[in-house]
Amino acid sequence: MRHVLRSLLLLTVTVLWLTTPLAAKPLNLIILHLNDWDKMDSAGRVASVIKAEKAKAAENGAAVLVTFGGDMISPSLMSGIDQGAHMIELGEAVGIQYGALGNHEFDFGPEVLKQRLAEADFPWMSSNTLVNGKVFPGLDGSQLVEIDGYKIGIIGLTTPETIFLSSPGATVTFTSYAEAGQREVAALKAQGADFIIVLSHGGEGLDRELTRTLRDVDLVMGGHDHLARTVYDGRDMTAAAGSQGEFVAKVTLTIDRVEKRGKTSLVWSPAFDLIPTRNATPDATVQAKVDGYLATLDKELGQVIGSTSIELDTRRASIRSVETGFGNLVADASRAATGADVGIANGGGIRGDKVYAAGTELTRKDILSELPFGNSTVKLELTGAQLRAVLENGVSEVEKGAGRFAQVSGMVFSYDASKPAGARVVEVTVGGKPLNTAGTYTLATNDYVAGGGDGYAVFKKAKVLVDGDAGGLLAGQVIDYIKAKGTGGSKVEGRITRLD
Ligand SMILES: [Zn+2]
Repeated sequence: MRHVLRSLLLLTVTVLWLTTPLAAKPLNLIILHLNDWDKMDSAGRVASVIKAEKAKAAENGAAVLVTFGGDMISPSLMSGIDQGAHMIELGEAVGIQYGALGNHEFDFGPEVLKQRLAEADFPWMSSNTLVNGKVFPGLDGSQLVEIDGYKIGIIGLTTPETIFLSSPGATVTFTSYAEAGQREVAALKAQGADFIIVLSHGGEGLDRELTRTLRDVDLVMGGHDHLARTVYDGRDMTAAAGSQGEFVAKVTLTIDRVEKRGKTSLVWSPAFDLIPTRNATPDATVQAKVDGYLATLDKELGQVIGSTSIELDTRRASIRSVETGFGNLVADASRAATGADVGIANGGGIRGDKVYAAGTELTRKDILSELPFGNSTVKLELTGAQLRAVLENGVSEVEKGAGRFAQVSGMVFSYDASKPAGARVVEVTVGGKPLNTAGTYTLATNDYVAGGGDGYAVFKKAKVLVDGDAGGLLAGQVIDYIKAKGTGGSKVEGRITRLD
């Protein structure tokens, strides 16, 4: 399919070439950009905004490129079912023509990514995602498009942090932005590129570093940091569209060739818009696809994922005051998904308020109603002393039944609630060894408490290894954990002991 698309593009270019003298007139070029869009809900509205923009551009004789800045196939509930295939279809349906690879594209491993890339009608690019020195199979490093006699180079780049943010496998490596960018820019320039756009999944810091270090990069359309942003310093331009199709980032360029003392050079002037999609009337065709997937999702949510071998208690009074099987399950699942030393689940994040008897068949819906907040899992590094402070906060309001109560994984602790808050934790072991207050530990928890919620200010002092934007969905991790184990729940085994 991809080859068909490319030949069509070539054909268009050839026709233009024959009918228009080379760069006889300025090029009006509009770039419409999305990034960090992994949840399908907005697809109908995004499609209608893009369609309207294309219609306007056609009236004004402007060319349009629709680009994507990475993170599409994960994480979402539906991705947990079809590993992101639906988003590839919706990406095509809204009109995406060029995509950059994001870290989340590797969430299901390199083999699934290859399948998704093969399904896509549009080229995905990442010039710094390599296997044995070559760009990852199914990806391109860059593309060169010719429009009205102007050659536009488009390069893809992906955050090198993908190596620990996702699951690219043992053979995939990520080189630096500067190194891969330089190589690709040189190749495009050698082919006569007039204007170079980078689709970057690396956040604002890397985007701006790139425009500073590589003079020939003219425009960076970004992603990864979920920011809706445009920056223009008179020469370099970066823009990104937030996340989840909330906005379409639009860059309008007038590109022209000028002659000065016998030398031809390119000049351009930009305009920037962030077009909100929230009030758009959904495109009927695309919305019908979304509705179809929502119906599939609803059916799949009712499917049994495992049956619990033990009683699982999520009653409010239990989950906020004592170790429970369900609390252990959530903390274990987030720890397993991130490979952290320990895991923490705040009792207030678990909301089902019920008891599942041993032998109960668990569905995805059960897990979603227990974890309704859509939190993602964060991985932090903290000292033993900070970890102790985490547990102190966890038991500091146990008599009030506060949501901060800490369900734990990978560690065992005791506390005395007759003592003042902040001085209640008595004994802590991690992986069977006494807590070393000067040591460092990795910890998995949800993005709400990691941001200081439920009194966990101490987390804000910890080093962030995987942040909420890069982390997986907590509910999805619990579902995967149950599916992998076949049984839901991790039995109550004395992880938390109240001494008073
Ligand atoms: Zn990302």
